[in-house]
Amino acid sequence: MKGSSHLAIGVAAGVGIGLYNQVEPITIGLFAIVGGVAGLFPDLDTNGVASNKITLSKSLLKIPLMVMGICVILYSLFESFMALRIDLQIMGSIIIGGIMILLSSVITQKRMLSFTGVGIVMGGIAIDMSYWIILLGIYIVIASFLPHRSYTHSIIGLSFFAVILYMAQEAMNLEGLLIVGIVGYISHLITDMKCLPMNRRGVKLFAPVWNKEF
Ligand SMILES: [Zn+2]
Repeated sequence: MKGSSHLAIGVAAGVGIGLYNQVEPITIGLFAIVGGVAGLFPDLDTNGVASNKITLSKSLLKIPLMVMGICVILYSLFESFMALRIDLQIMGSIIIGGIMILLSSVITQKRMLSFTGVGIVMGGIAIDMSYWIILLGIYIVIASFLPHRSYTHSIIGLSFFAVILYMAQEAMNLEGLLIVGIVGYISHLITDMKCLPMNRRGVKLFAPVWNKEF
């Protein structure tokens, strides 16, 4: 299912839970956001609405890295031309410039997502060792290396996410965060199931124990 549909269903679930529990309008708004985010979360394992929203565009790193690599090489060549010699230092700089150009050509959007996750982990450490932020970053780093519709679309992914939600709920004293987030996440797994006509592939809910697609 498309990201926008997952988002809409997650938001609806959050609003529904808020209305059912007759909470304050501001809390309904918060539940809508949490439900929507949770509804998108499993798709952090692919390039899409969720990952692109939180990830810096790869061109932000790609182009400067390539330009810097070219500059390093040109400057080294210029130095060697002026000095009329090539020494180890100049050769080293040329190799470093070459590595920078090479790196810039292999950076993908998913690697940018990995960097984003690492950044969030470091942020969590900086903010007084906030465990839920650290775990959130770890979830994102792991998701960025997983094939699409694998562990993030399983009971394991859901459990990991539930632990993050629970810790966030406790840390921020936000009653309802856990349940809304879990419902939003489950809504994603259900709407990605093979029994629905728009899904060609299903979800391996019990991976890695039982790799059957549902
Ligand atoms: Zn999905």
